[in-house]
Amino acid sequence: MTELSGSIGAVGRQLPVIDLVRCARCGLPETYETIEFDPAGVCNICRQKEFRDDQIDWEARGSQFAALVEEYRGKYEYDCIIPFSGGKDSTYTLYHMVKRFGIKPLVVQFNHGFMRPTLLKNNERTFRQLGVEVLTFTPNWKVVKRLMLEALIRKGDFCWHCHTGIYSYPMHVALKYNTPLIVWGEPSSEYTAYYDYRDDAIEEVDETRFNRFINLGITAEDMAGMISSDFDFDPRDLAPFTYPPVRDLRRLKYRSVCLGSFIPWDTRNQAQTIESELGWEGDEVENMPPGLYRYEKIECYVQGVRDYIKFLKRGYHRVTQMTALDLRNGRIEKADADRLVREFENRRPPSLDIFLEYLGISEEEFNSIVLKTVVPPHQPDFDAITAGDKTWDFDLWYRER
Ligand SMILES: [Zn+2]
Repeated sequence: MTELSGSIGAVGRQLPVIDLVRCARCGLPETYETIEFDPAGVCNICRQKEFRDDQIDWEARGSQFAALVEEYRGKYEYDCIIPFSGGKDSTYTLYHMVKRFGIKPLVVQFNHGFMRPTLLKNNERTFRQLGVEVLTFTPNWKVVKRLMLEALIRKGDFCWHCHTGIYSYPMHVALKYNTPLIVWGEPSSEYTAYYDYRDDAIEEVDETRFNRFINLGITAEDMAGMISSDFDFDPRDLAPFTYPPVRDLRRLKYRSVCLGSFIPWDTRNQAQTIESELGWEGDEVENMPPGLYRYEKIECYVQGVRDYIKFLKRGYHRVTQMTALDLRNGRIEKADADRLVREFENRRPPSLDIFLEYLGISEEEFNSIVLKTVVPPHQPDFDAITAGDKTWDFDLWYRER
């Protein structure tokens, strides 16, 4: 298949000549994590979705969840902890738990350092409308910047502090507040095959999952060793990124689950619900088709860099992922999906300038770091990259100088 070859419309340049094998249905390429294709050329993520829609007894799962909530209600400092970024998934989860179950949660926010103005407004509105208590934690910025650089060099993914902090910090809070039930939003099975819906397995958001794909194979202890030769830090600076000792969690009798394991997850409909019920607002994101996916990944002002790295590394970015979801849900035509991919994926995000400023590296250094993490058979073609547009809030983002 040749989705990525050929002309790219108005710009008229050629995209990379190496064609990636792609799912006949959703278009995800062979460089996608955990992907496999069956004899019909359809990927395992598409098959997982079929199984989810046809084979799971969602009513039984719903009752299972209701029983779980009752087991913990009223017995601890809070009924549950809800880790919260303010994006559509965590906002819907909080909304659902408060409105449907009338529980008293402790909302825990790990501030990764890049929250955008619209998101901050959404958060305030959501907390006030739902009447919830909130704990926000912000890690040391200097440490965050050094961790980002190390993760970029090691893995071509600078979000280590964010992945780990978001999943580890709320577990420390669960211990501190003696609150064993932790409710996350979307299960990973919607996007990858690290977990699937078969055998009626319920994905536990635990240390196994944390080590399987959240922390990129780098523990906080590893990280401390990696940066210690050139960076002065207090060992306690890395504590928020460690997973709490499993014996402490067991003693708490914790349960850490995704709401999406118990109700069929539908991001687009859920985004509409929080828009109409809470006044939640979407936003534009760098290099995404304007107006189409305003509910996705509005949390972070270096999201565009993250997507760009994925494109350089693996030959696709989030347009492909979003159209793949829409194709699986029958919400877009394949030809339209292909057109969006060709038009938007090969753009350089303006936030790259800010990102390079934070990390203190040049674009040449950035490119050579990313080149070392490319996933074959993809090969990036820097000549085919064009300049992307700034979002409305670009000039409001924190600058280092
Ligand atoms: Zn597929």
